[in-house]
Amino acid sequence: MSDRPLVLHVTSEIYPFSKTGGLADVLGALPPTLARKGVDVAVVTPFYGRLATGGYPIHLLHSDVPVGFPWPPITAEVYSAEYQGVPVYFIGRGEYFDRRFYYNTHKGDYFDNCERFVFFCRAALEWCKYLDRPPAIVHAHDWQAAMTVAYLHFWRQMDPFWKDVKTVLTIHNLAFQGRYSSRLFWESGLPTDAWNMDGAEFWGDFNMLKAGIAYADSVTTVSPSYALEIQTPEFGCGLDGILRHRSERLTGIINGADYDVWDPSSDKFLPHVYDSANMKGKRICKEHLLREYCMDPVVAQRPLLGFIGRLRRQKGIDLLIEILPALMKIGVGVVVLGEGNLEFEAQLMELMERYPGRLAARIGYTEELAHYIQAGTDIFLMPSRYEPCGLTQMYSLRFGTVPVASSVGGLRDTIVPHPRFGSTGFTFTAGDPSSFLRSIMEALAIWEKPGVWNRIRSRAMQASFSWEDSARGYMDVYRELGVSMP
Ligand code: ADP
Repeated sequence: MSDRPLVLHVTSEIYPFSKTGGLADVLGALPPTLARKGVDVAVVTPFYGRLATGGYPIHLLHSDVPVGFPWPPITAEVYSAEYQGVPVYFIGRGEYFDRRFYYNTHKGDYFDNCERFVFFCRAALEWCKYLDRPPAIVHAHDWQAAMTVAYLHFWRQMDPFWKDVKTVLTIHNLAFQGRYSSRLFWESGLPTDAWNMDGAEFWGDFNMLKAGIAYADSVTTVSPSYALEIQTPEFGCGLDGILRHRSERLTGIINGADYDVWDPSSDKFLPHVYDSANMKGKRICKEHLLREYCMDPVVAQRPLLGFIGRLRRQKGIDLLIEILPALMKIGVGVVVLGEGNLEFEAQLMELMERYPGRLAARIGYTEELAHYIQAGTDIFLMPSRYEPCGLTQMYSLRFGTVPVASSVGGLRDTIVPHPRFGSTGFTFTAGDPSSFLRSIMEALAIWEKPGVWNRIRSRAMQASFSWEDSARGYMDVYRELGVSMP
């Protein structure tokens, strides 16, 4: 039995097993980095029907851990895998997890998501009783895991097993809160004391993320700017009040990028690798991308602009759609990869017919194409209305694809727009299409001056957002809670 404090991460996604977005990337990188720094760390996550194994063998550890939610005899299966030195425990129960993550594309969110993730949180905590010692820290991620923090706030006052546990909640996106009818609160097993404005209640509804924010010993989010923004009504999604109330315990820690996966000098998906000292490979990647998308070869001599992301208003895809005709007029090429809102997908298809060879859009989720676009385009577009951290702009910097991004959240913290401070990209006022277009025009004007452009590009390629730095930030948070760290 180890005598080091155990940090247990609770998450609904972890790369390479399950992924819908940046949350999975964070969990795929942060726990292994903590482990390499000598922290004893483990992860608990659901055992979805569509789980990828990522080549890591997964086996059954226990077939009936009693959970007692929503009715006493109910149990969970627990599977495990060893991922980069980190034990990952998967909570299984067919009726809850033998399907996709959160929603069915045609029918929307699963009707029983509240019950599924309350079950998950309770099972994750029950599983701790089977470990050799209680965790020193339970670190929950987003609303799906937030209830662990709320339960522990009450349980540690009653159950000696939990008496010394500390809790951390990380918000990866405040817009998703797990908000349900009050009836489900009464079934969740939280005590009546939690039903008030300083607890789990939110305008008469049960709000699982709010419960986590209210009861966590520390709350973190994924960039310093987003930590400030979410305390304002504009970005607070209704929770700015409680976040202001907890501001002394709220920290922003920027995510890292996984350069083992996202680095053009070693990228296994690319037709040709390159680095800042030898950019010939980037041109080959551009030509390859133009062929892949059947684009007009003349675009090889013109700037090629790329967008990768969920086709949602958050990501500002509607702003890009609005300015696309103007971009087409000035003779650049645009490549889009994404899926999401059906209306935006249809609009992109329509525009693609109008501008054949100049605009290419692929609807879907393809890891390989995401790498091609990062490498083969000249300018990366990220017009997000809000962006807690954002990973794709970090990748684009490393790939020498200069970002044009809105000045919010993590984009603000990772892109330097001022020439005086050594610019690495261009930023503009979020949500404003004309400001977006102006910023692109500014970038295109500089693209015409290869000397200046190359300087911006090589600075961008040198920018580094390492998981080492982020892990150090989280270890400081754990230390502040009185838990000793290596
Ligand atoms: P978010 O988590 O808000 O979706 P991030 O920028 O933090 O946005 O992370 C998005 C991740 O998902 C990146 O790894 C990005 O490459 C990937 N991604 C998003 N959409 C697609 C897509 N359609 N095909 C392939 N990868 C995608």
